[in-house]
Amino acid sequence: MKIKEEKTMNIDGHTKMYCLIGSPVGHSGSPAMYNYSFDRLGINSAYLAYDVPLEKTGEAVAALRLLGCGGFNVTMPCKTEVTKYLDRLSPACELIGASNCVVVEADGTLTGHNTDGLGFVANLRVHGVDVKGRRMVILGSGGAGTAVTMQSAVDGASEIHIFNRKGYTFYPNAELTVKKITERIPACKASVTDLADKEALAEAVRNCDILVNATKVGMAPLDDETLIDPSLFRADLVVADTVYNPKETRMILEAKAAGVKAAIGGIGMLLRQGVEGFRLYTGREMPADEVMDKFFA
Ligand code: NAD
Repeated sequence: MKIKEEKTMNIDGHTKMYCLIGSPVGHSGSPAMYNYSFDRLGINSAYLAYDVPLEKTGEAVAALRLLGCGGFNVTMPCKTEVTKYLDRLSPACELIGASNCVVVEADGTLTGHNTDGLGFVANLRVHGVDVKGRRMVILGSGGAGTAVTMQSAVDGASEIHIFNRKGYTFYPNAELTVKKITERIPACKASVTDLADKEALAEAVRNCDILVNATKVGMAPLDDETLIDPSLFRADLVVADTVYNPKETRMILEAKAAGVKAAIGGIGMLLRQGVEGFRLYTGREMPADEVMDKFFA
């Protein structure tokens, strides 16, 4: 019998297992991105995806502990629930209240991180932008908005003005975020305003250094929409989006056309989340440019 010749992975008795849990997970790009990187760097590890419903989160964490998993990513709907079963949380992860990346430490204990926020600030850094000492306007206070806000506050942003639609699910999130930052990181001045207040939004954008869209506006079916009047763009403003599909949203295209200092789409945040997770798991650098070309081009 002829054995299949192409080998994509060497799995043996020492292979360390990493994985993604949540539901659904079938669409995730993480297994391809991590397995490619393990292979490229000669790391004897494999990454799988397990469909885990919310109510089974605790059991899944116990099973991964038992099986000596090297670390695991967590997606919806388990990101908040998982924090109950971890031994400790990174400062930003604790503030966010949700973890998407769990590191198994050398002593077997589990530390929760949140790479949504880490990936966002890392992507800005790649574009030569540091949030430290910067005044930010962040549109949106859902999962991405909260992670971006908390990580930016932890990383030294001097001011964060959140805008979200009042009367919708996520406004109380923004109020809680402002309360936590005010209590825990008083050096960062945090506030929230109704997104419907266009005058307040325009004034805040005029007075900020970095404008971030962390809402679903810009993503299909809202891909022909933007929350920002392009007349507000100016040469010393940095504009960033969390939306990565399309790679360049209407807001990013209009910001580029207006000649802002930097217009940064969300695809780099997605890549950098993987890079940050890979480093936390292995202490090694993912071949980011190759991964970008191969999986996100
Ligand atoms: P979410 O459902 O948790 O939050 C959605 C946010 O969008 C809320 O603040 C909500 O009020 C706002 N919103 C929705 N429709 C709106 C509208 N019509 N007008 C104004 N505001 C509106 O979602 P999320 O997980 O925070 O995702 C938000 C965006 O960020 C999505 O486009 C998602 O693809 C993107 N995202 C990107 C990355 C990345 O790595 N680049 C990671 C996570 C999320």
